[in-house]
Amino acid sequence: MNLDDTIVAIATPPGRGGIGVVRLAGPEARAIAEPMLRGTRELEAGRAIHYDLIEPGWLDGKDTLELDGSEPRHYNPATTRIDEVVVTYFAKPHSYTTDDIVEISAHGSPVVLRHIVELALARGARLAEPGEFTMRAFLNGRLDLTQAEAVRDLIDSQTLFQAKVAAQQLEGALSNRLKPIKRDLVELIALLEAGIDFAEDDISVAPDAVIREHISRVQAPLLQLAATFSYGKIIHQGLTLAIVGRPNVGKSSLFNRLVERERAIVTAQPGTTRDLVSETVALDGIPLELVDTAGIRSAHDEAESMGIKKSKEALADADLVLVVIDSTQPLSDEDHDLLSLVDGRQAIIVENKSDLVGSFEDPTLARSSGGGPPRDSAAARNFPPRIRTSALTGEGVSALRKAILRHVAGDSAQDSEAGFLTSVRHQKLVHDALRSLDAASNAVGARVPHEMLLLDLYGALRPIDEMTGATTTDDILNLIFGTFCIGK
Ligand code: GDP
Repeated sequence: MNLDDTIVAIATPPGRGGIGVVRLAGPEARAIAEPMLRGTRELEAGRAIHYDLIEPGWLDGKDTLELDGSEPRHYNPATTRIDEVVVTYFAKPHSYTTDDIVEISAHGSPVVLRHIVELALARGARLAEPGEFTMRAFLNGRLDLTQAEAVRDLIDSQTLFQAKVAAQQLEGALSNRLKPIKRDLVELIALLEAGIDFAEDDISVAPDAVIREHISRVQAPLLQLAATFSYGKIIHQGLTLAIVGRPNVGKSSLFNRLVERERAIVTAQPGTTRDLVSETVALDGIPLELVDTAGIRSAHDEAESMGIKKSKEALADADLVLVVIDSTQPLSDEDHDLLSLVDGRQAIIVENKSDLVGSFEDPTLARSSGGGPPRDSAAARNFPPRIRTSALTGEGVSALRKAILRHVAGDSAQDSEAGFLTSVRHQKLVHDALRSLDAASNAVGARVPHEMLLLDLYGALRPIDEMTGATTTDDILNLIFGTFCIGK
């Protein structure tokens, strides 16, 4: 990856728009941009300045770029104006990539924007690869890897909440959470490295108990971080929620109730191949794909009713299941079948049609989930909450929304500022680190030599570094030679 050349790209999305931006980054950014600009002021760092965009004179041999005091800088009367532009110059190192950057905001015509890029290419710029500006920011040390990934997530976000989470990661929320973990681990490594150096002097650096305690001090926050992934993943990818129930219990009506408030940002996916209707809505900023088995009517001549069959399909992909029952009727066999299907899954039982008569208390249901959650919290988690709703009047629908959100956030309504795992890459790395720490912990128990123990600790350090993209050798050396004053 060449970091010394100047790259150029259209930074705004394809198509026409009010404005479009061409971005140039690299040592020649300014020299390449200036001949295209005609105006009365020179580029100035951190300032947006208005210019005419012109064909540079050097292209047609009519170059009249002489400067004499009050003369405009790039005055070429023979050249016609292509556009009016506003140009912002970010001087090295105070720019996104830490290089010199020139951003030309033209009117958002693809023709004009492409022409600006071509002019830049003719002057020696290179077309940027996808993500190359951010790549440079990373390689130049302006962003770490988690932050670079956050830029992508921010751009990809579908809801404002997702954007906020990405912005916090961009600020370094996750990196900051990793820092003390890494510091502790590096300290332990340094301690053991120093111990090996002193081995011949018969000095035991630390008793096993101390080492083990130190390892668990690294493990604990890493485990907490690993636990944030289930929520982080949902924020990042959203949640699939299946609405199941036998025909006519009110699934479609409930579905419509759940999506109505968020209509504006709904993306409909009609006619999916499996006859399942699905729509994505944002519930408190979390994308929620609702899968409805609507339109499915019981096919009595089949051994297994279509309702059950389709419900099974919907269930297969669901993170959470809403089992809708008709509270005006006793539970049918089909209801029981459905309830046993979702047994052991994350589910909410919705007793719909609460506007009609009182709830029909079915003894079976009452035994399995009624009477409030049991005291034992582990069991409570397995008990699907029951919510009474009326899709007709809207009663209970907001309680249902809350129950869905409670399921999403879990007990620990995560503080996004604390930083959490949203990507599979991060999750894998945290698990890799934990596995190595486990091995290290066992190694202490087995009283293996510290050289071997260190292999496991380095094995834990590597994935932590891979998360941020940092290199560690220097950190360890600094600690060993700085803190321990070995003096060798
Ligand atoms: P689905 O087959 O499970 O999707 O059920 P629908 O949503 O199509 O509803 C079946 C019928 O029940 C329709 O006539 C709805 O208007 C009605 N319905 C749905 N929910 C309620 C409710 O909460 N109260 C009342 N009274 N009727 C409802």
